[in-house]
Amino acid sequence: MTDIKTVAERDRSSVLHPFTQLKDFATGKIGDPTIVTDGRGVSIKDAEGRSYIDGFAGLYCVNVGYGRTEVAEAIARQAYKLAYYHTYAAHTTEELATLSDRLVRMAPGAPSKVFYGLSGSDANETQAKLVWYYNNLRGQPRRKKIISRERGYHGCSVISGSMTGMSFYHDHMDLPFPGILHTGSPHHYWGAEPGETEDSFSRRRAAELEQLILREGPETIGAFIAEPVLGTGGITPPPTGYWREIQTVLRRYDVLLIADEVICGFGRTGADFGSILYGMEPDLVTVAKGLTSGYMPLSAAIVGQRVYNVMEEAADRVGAFSHGYTYSGHPIAAAAANAVLDIFEKEELTNRAKTVGSHFQKRLKERFAQLEIVGEVRGVGLLGAIEFVADRQTKRRFDPQIKVGARISKAARDRGLIARAMPHGDILGFAPPLIVSEPEIDEMIDLAYRATKQVMDELA
Ligand code: PLP
Repeated sequence: MTDIKTVAERDRSSVLHPFTQLKDFATGKIGDPTIVTDGRGVSIKDAEGRSYIDGFAGLYCVNVGYGRTEVAEAIARQAYKLAYYHTYAAHTTEELATLSDRLVRMAPGAPSKVFYGLSGSDANETQAKLVWYYNNLRGQPRRKKIISRERGYHGCSVISGSMTGMSFYHDHMDLPFPGILHTGSPHHYWGAEPGETEDSFSRRRAAELEQLILREGPETIGAFIAEPVLGTGGITPPPTGYWREIQTVLRRYDVLLIADEVICGFGRTGADFGSILYGMEPDLVTVAKGLTSGYMPLSAAIVGQRVYNVMEEAADRVGAFSHGYTYSGHPIAAAAANAVLDIFEKEELTNRAKTVGSHFQKRLKERFAQLEIVGEVRGVGLLGAIEFVADRQTKRRFDPQIKVGARISKAARDRGLIARAMPHGDILGFAPPLIVSEPEIDEMIDLAYRATKQVMDELA
């Protein structure tokens, strides 16, 4: 390998890194880039030979773990045989047809067809177009607005970035786009009135959604998009009763439900999909990440029967479905996804996320819930978070300048654990590969605990 300094210099002078303070990186204030070289099981290694337990599976995606030769071989086999062909005008490959059949059989709701993209962002962009198309075709052209939630995360492109409900994803970039609205987040810890139960908080959130729909005019509302478990906005499972109450409102006003399963899909919560866990019946489902475990870029917008039937019925009138990308349904990505789904089924990763996940949730609570800077420990399956506060009684936040979450994440990293400082608040997030073992969970939690103690000592 080229020496480390040269790689770092080339990177610094030529890569525009996402979510990186550009000046601090350019001037070296935040040090050199981490050059990641290898991955095996739940761990990655950097160019200096340091090893880390990846407690975040990359970006919640490497569910089958690193270094799976079955997936690498499937990718190579397809690349040798046929590296590329498009899917326009009814072309396909065997891998793609197989994958689509599997997805239609396993996806929540009443799935009919699968449209492929390359990222969660572009798949949600597709969902918005599908909502608009469907409503135009069924003669309701005013039903175009899409409601998402504060602190929801749906991507970074123009419409998906607008759906994302955190202002720092919008600032200076002219988002959100008109017609994308936001309603309250489902987080009981921060959102509830004193003494309000989870059930009544859920009812209040549903009532607020209804008020928003009525204020805007129900005939203008096309869809509601949400993650079953709020992810990047803080890893927050819904309060009890939430999805029942929300869906009652959506059905009352004939509003489509888009389930963004980019994180929750394929076992992460201990159910095959978050929608199944919470009794959601989505019309449209977005998947990415776990679909290929990050081995290839691939996403999908899974179209339910209700929407698809209208599209097919209108085809004689409107002509071809004019939406698609050069790489929609890429055969190598499809081969990777099939190999990943084989592992997912053979190793029963959903069950594993459920059993190892319950050990994880228990240990996380045992170690952290009583610490004086911990406001809330939460999670489901192999998705978890610790929220830090300056005062547990009053829920006073730390001064953001102290960067408590980022410091704990850095201290964990120095000890060989990647746990993510979530972008909204002082939150340490976990989403390890679903193949993680109980001893690895214990090690992960131990490292995170020692990192937290270190920062507590610094703050004292
Ligand atoms: N939706 C959810 C729930 C996500 O968590 C993400 C990414 O983290 C996205 C969409 C966007 O996916 P991508 O980064 O692949 O565009």
